[in-house]
Amino acid sequence: MYEWSEEHRELRAEFAHWYETLGEGHLEADRDSGLPMRAWERVRASGLLRLPFHAEWGGRGLDLLSTMYVLEGLGEGCRDGGLCFSICTQIVSAGIPLQRFGSAELKARHLPGICDGGTITAHAITDPNGGSDVLGMGMTAKPDGDDWILDGDKVFVTNGPVADLIVVYALTDASLGPFGLTAFLVERGTEGVLAGADVPKMGLRTSPLGELSLRGCRVPAANVLGRPGMGFAVLDHVMRWEILCSFIVQVGAMQHRLDRCVEHATRRRQFGRPIGSFQMVADQIVDMKIGVETSRRWLYDAAEGFVRGRDVTTDIAIAKVLASEANVKSALSAVQIFGGRGYLTETGLEKDLRDAVGGTIYSGTSEMQRIRIARMLGLKESQT
Ligand SMILES: Cc1cc2nc3c(=O)[nH]c(=O)nc-3n(C[C@H](O)[C@H](O)[C@H](O)COP(=O)(O)OP(=O)(O)OC[C@H]3O[C@@H](n4cnc5c(N)ncnc54)[C@H](O)[C@@H]3O)c2cc1C
Repeated sequence: MYEWSEEHRELRAEFAHWYETLGEGHLEADRDSGLPMRAWERVRASGLLRLPFHAEWGGRGLDLLSTMYVLEGLGEGCRDGGLCFSICTQIVSAGIPLQRFGSAELKARHLPGICDGGTITAHAITDPNGGSDVLGMGMTAKPDGDDWILDGDKVFVTNGPVADLIVVYALTDASLGPFGLTAFLVERGTEGVLAGADVPKMGLRTSPLGELSLRGCRVPAANVLGRPGMGFAVLDHVMRWEILCSFIVQVGAMQHRLDRCVEHATRRRQFGRPIGSFQMVADQIVDMKIGVETSRRWLYDAAEGFVRGRDVTTDIAIAKVLASEANVKSALSAVQIFGGRGYLTETGLEKDLRDAVGGTIYSGTSEMQRIRIARMLGLKESQT
């Protein structure tokens, strides 16, 4: 298991006092939906959004593993899963690809605001035609002088309803397959950009999600991340960060839930004994423990391999399937272990379950991750 240094522990402790206040009022915020702006102001003040960005832009300059270690603490300490999801989206959607692929001019213009959280960011990959099949998207970009003209619609854009800056993925040449995809940095005020309102959803309700429409939207060539045709490489880099960061937050949430269930199963008595002494209850808690430990190890190991430049395609896919499915199972077990109380809104456990389900869908569904693993094993599918 990964050995954390004293420096790491101090770093996590430095942020720990924020977590409870970030999650304050999370049950009401879930009921109301939408990004809780007062909490977002506290997120900004906490400095969490600065973690992996260079000091030059106002960041903390942490490496990926240290960033994940702090984010795991966030998941453990903050009960607002939607807010945590929006924090991760803010970190990975535009800042990470900008830092890695953006020009010096773009970085200077946008990274300070992203680090500070005054510029809210999102990324728009999925569209009505292209979901799991990203290259099936309908969004196109055509060259026009020094600019590109973007046309199409996007759906399920996390942070979209409030975003100031959006990375939009569009097809610049559909005949080139993966080399025909390009990532564009689009500012909200650009003519032809229309961001829809928050769309109601099952969970993660404090993380706004909406549609985005681009009609004849003129974007300067200088706003391309990397080069035209490099969109798939940009997306691959971002998806690795997204999976590692958002699911390590869920590991923290699973750890918190496990501790809570152990405490409840020790205290709650039925038939004259603590319910944790019944094997069937203990088994569920043991499975929660196995789920959180395996997810944690796979995520940190995959991150380490990624940082070292190893091919971690299979590792990331395994880590994503493990963590997302373990989180759903753990959330469902917690409801069961708390009995009728688990079903009540006031315990927050039914919200945890609703929040967890999305994890098997975003960042590539469980099915697509399994397809990726099968491909890496040399197994060819018949249709895709
Ligand atoms: C909470 C949340 C936040 C999101 N945030 C963002 C965001 O910020 N930006 C963004 O661009 N998108 C976002 N998404 C969208 C998400 O990435 C897509 O929903 C996901 O990629 C699946 O695409 P789809 O919904 O079109 O489903 P589809 O691709 O239509 O898939 C439907 C079902 O069919 C299965 N399926 C598809 N193809 C195959 C196959 N070849 N073999 C087996 N099964 C298959 C899928 O696994 C799934 O179960 C978000 C989604 C959610 C739920």
